[in-house]
Amino acid sequence: MRRGYRSILLVGAGPAGSSLALRLHAAGWQNLLVIDKSTFPREKVCGDYLNPAASGLLETLPGFSLSSIPERVILRRLELVSPGNRSLVGPFNVGSPGHGLKREVLDAALVHAARQQGITVKEGVRFVEPVIEQERLVGARLEEGGHATEHACDLIVGADGLHSNVASGIEVRPKPPGRVALVARLTVERAGADAFMFLGPEADLGICPVGPHTINAGFLISPERLKIMTGTQAERFRSLWHLMPAATGRFGGCGEVIEVRGAGPFGFRKRPHDVAGMALIGDALGFRDPISGNGVERALLASSLLAEKLNQGAAFGPRTLGTELDREFGWRRIPDRLLLLPYRGPLLDLGFGLFSRFPQFTSRLVQHAQGT
Ligand SMILES: Cc1cc2nc3c(=O)[nH]c(=O)nc-3n(C[C@H](O)[C@H](O)[C@H](O)COP(=O)(O)OP(=O)(O)OC[C@H]3O[C@@H](n4cnc5c(N)ncnc54)[C@H](O)[C@@H]3O)c2cc1C
Repeated sequence: MRRGYRSILLVGAGPAGSSLALRLHAAGWQNLLVIDKSTFPREKVCGDYLNPAASGLLETLPGFSLSSIPERVILRRLELVSPGNRSLVGPFNVGSPGHGLKREVLDAALVHAARQQGITVKEGVRFVEPVIEQERLVGARLEEGGHATEHACDLIVGADGLHSNVASGIEVRPKPPGRVALVARLTVERAGADAFMFLGPEADLGICPVGPHTINAGFLISPERLKIMTGTQAERFRSLWHLMPAATGRFGGCGEVIEVRGAGPFGFRKRPHDVAGMALIGDALGFRDPISGNGVERALLASSLLAEKLNQGAAFGPRTLGTELDREFGWRRIPDRLLLLPYRGPLLDLGFGLFSRFPQFTSRLVQHAQGT
């Protein structure tokens, strides 16, 4: 057992939790327990897009190989399209591509890899709250099959996603008015090998191929705009699809809509507090509007930062990790925020028109924003 903690509880077995478990186990930490309230494969509303940096981080995980997953689609570039159909294209390097991969496949493969390494992963177990005695963390209250249990531990890592139970106990978590998502898988004639982000005046649409004839298509839209639309989720999805001529021009009509799922609202969070014996990684540490498609990368990077700190016996906590993660992303946070400005139509077209005059500079910019 490594110095520092006798027993570590990892809450959540998504990319953040599973990758941390793999890294810690490989570094010699033995007393690890991973729990997840779901059973795998489980659904996760996501664009199914792995940027080149996320793909690279997955390949460095001990005991896991992204390239051995047959269902993955190798992506050759990301194209950003403005409301007036102007494009900025970022081709990926051949040696460092992005990937389209259904999240239920990726996350189940990560959990499988953790188990193969001998890590205990318990599914269907929900974290309820920490147990604190004399201002010291001594364990966690859990729920398994309707029964309350307790688990003794001296470190809890919250990797439990956007609506983190672990985080709500240790940070100020306002609900800012953010956008919502409507995500579906569609059958198309040819899915291709390019990912897209279509920016519209009313909604944005991310597209990622996840099979030869299947794409993941996700709209990001204000809740007010969605509310005034009538019909079922699938009918609303189809109406939105037809409001995106740039996308229909490339993919044709909306084929079979396999499933439509909603998520959100998203927004920025206020600063977390550092609390002894508690850490947050992944979406639990902070979530941005998924317009950048960098969520999985941020989750993997946060887990790698925390693993490094634990191995070094260095100080960490939600605030420390959050600050370092932001530093790692550096200026890449700026385009995300610019794209989220409320009035963007003509301004974006103007900007895209200007940038597209310098294609080499632009592709470098898009590549860099995607971590390649
Ligand atoms: C609409 C949408 C589209 C997106 N598109 C992309 C994209 O294309 N590319 C990209 O990189 N990112 C995308 N993201 C972001 C990405 O999905 C997240 O950043 C990523 O899933 C974070 O991983 P995680 O491990 O932190 O959390 P999650 O993947 O959410 O995993 C959290 C896990 O914790 C478990 N859990 C929750 N509560 C408890 C509890 N109390 N007890 C036990 N277990 C619990 C859950 O069951 C879950 O398995 C998108 C997000 C949304 C909402």
